[in-house]
Amino acid sequence: MSDYQSLLRELPAVDRLLREPLLADLQKRLPRRVVLQAAQETIDSYRRAITSYGDAEKIPGNIDLSPTTLAGEAAILAEKSAGSNLKTLINATGIIIHTNLGRAPLPETAVQALTGIAANYNNLEYSLESGGRGSRHDHLEELICELSGAEAAVVLNNNAAAVFLALNEIASNKEVIVSRGQLVEIGGSFRIPDIMAASGASLVEVGTTNKTYLRDYEAKVSENTAAFLKVHASNYHMVGFTAAVDTAELAGLAHRYGLPLIEDLGSGVLLDLEKYNLPPEPRVQDSVAAGADLVTFSGDKMLGGPQAGIIVGRGDLVKAIRTNQLARALRVDKFIIAALEATLRLYLDEDKAVQEIPVWRMLTDAADTLKRRANSLAEALSDIFGPEPVSVVKSVSRVGGGALPMAELPTYLAAVKLPENDIHPEKMVERLRHTNPPVILRLQQDTLLFDPRTIFEGQESALVEAVRKAYLGQR
Ligand SMILES: *Cc1c(COP(=O)(O)O)cnc(C)c1O
Repeated sequence: MSDYQSLLRELPAVDRLLREPLLADLQKRLPRRVVLQAAQETIDSYRRAITSYGDAEKIPGNIDLSPTTLAGEAAILAEKSAGSNLKTLINATGIIIHTNLGRAPLPETAVQALTGIAANYNNLEYSLESGGRGSRHDHLEELICELSGAEAAVVLNNNAAAVFLALNEIASNKEVIVSRGQLVEIGGSFRIPDIMAASGASLVEVGTTNKTYLRDYEAKVSENTAAFLKVHASNYHMVGFTAAVDTAELAGLAHRYGLPLIEDLGSGVLLDLEKYNLPPEPRVQDSVAAGADLVTFSGDKMLGGPQAGIIVGRGDLVKAIRTNQLARALRVDKFIIAALEATLRLYLDEDKAVQEIPVWRMLTDAADTLKRRANSLAEALSDIFGPEPVSVVKSVSRVGGGALPMAELPTYLAAVKLPENDIHPEKMVERLRHTNPPVILRLQQDTLLFDPRTIFEGQESALVEAVRKAYLGQR
């Protein structure tokens, strides 16, 4: 039996720990300061633990303070702190556009474009025609206009920036009329009333939560009105007795008063979803054709590209937005332009878009394929847990990212229900956040669920390996 004073004396010094072969080796690969810090932290944490025992009775007799053991822990700590903070992971949740997990993974052609542009000089603001200064906006405008049918286009940092700048340009110190049913909050920080206030426009609410008619808008038009705003209720759905004014009708009314209609579409769908047995969503080109003067949407939701906010519409309005004082603060960089151009080019051939844009591939994955993949995943997982706890269950995947909130995409999950006396499922979920790569999954009724829809082909073996290690308590 040892008292805690002698245990403290037994703790190895930092120098001693750094001479352990494991840490000596690690210092060749990682910065010395990182390893040193990890060694120091490990010793400190043991010192705190020993001191907290205080009363000698409670000190476990078998506490292992050997330099080898502490070096092992310090090595794990050092590797962890030397690794990237932003890292790739496996999304087994089945939520396709997961805002917390980086939204849309990019198509291969976009990744290639990014890499090429990143490592080289390029014509970002240089005209190869004239040899003079060019505009960064020119690389995307024609393509976006061709796909949307709009007269002009400009790309900004994200859709929040797009809505903000459109309002700031058109309606600063004036009024914008919006239906009460469309005063939405998206993702916690984008709230229509707040964005409107920040842009300098005053919000004029019309209608009720569930019903707004054309006459409600008309009743509020005054000489202070600068525009109508229509917002797509991306992330919620109203059922029951509802009424909203469609884009064509609202544009008609706006134009009768010489006002522009701004439509915030949110997601940015360019393809006909019903063709793929998905619930309908308004397409960008439909809003343009219906007469919306400006349409804004995200680049990294259903469009499947990088983070961006795209504004399409009337030439004079887009031009004014481009030259707004704040446009530079909200503009996109060369990486976004490269990735967005490559993504948009895929849309010139619909089949290509559906096959090569990961978001669309996942949206249109056939249930058969998913069943086959869930089966093979379950089989591999049986190797770890035995056949008893593992099964394949029918379920649904979600679109996510504030798009198609009601859509249920039929899928099959590999499911693991561990016996009561085994590791707690929450513990498994936590450990899987720390594997390399981390695996994010669903946990329902104490069952671990893996949705193959968002697990890329080629990630299965890494996933199974991660699960194996998590189960064994390794990293
Ligand atoms: C998602 C969304 C936004 C915000 O778009 P970001 O690109 O995330 O800034 C704004 N409006 C609507 C309707 C949305 O769905």
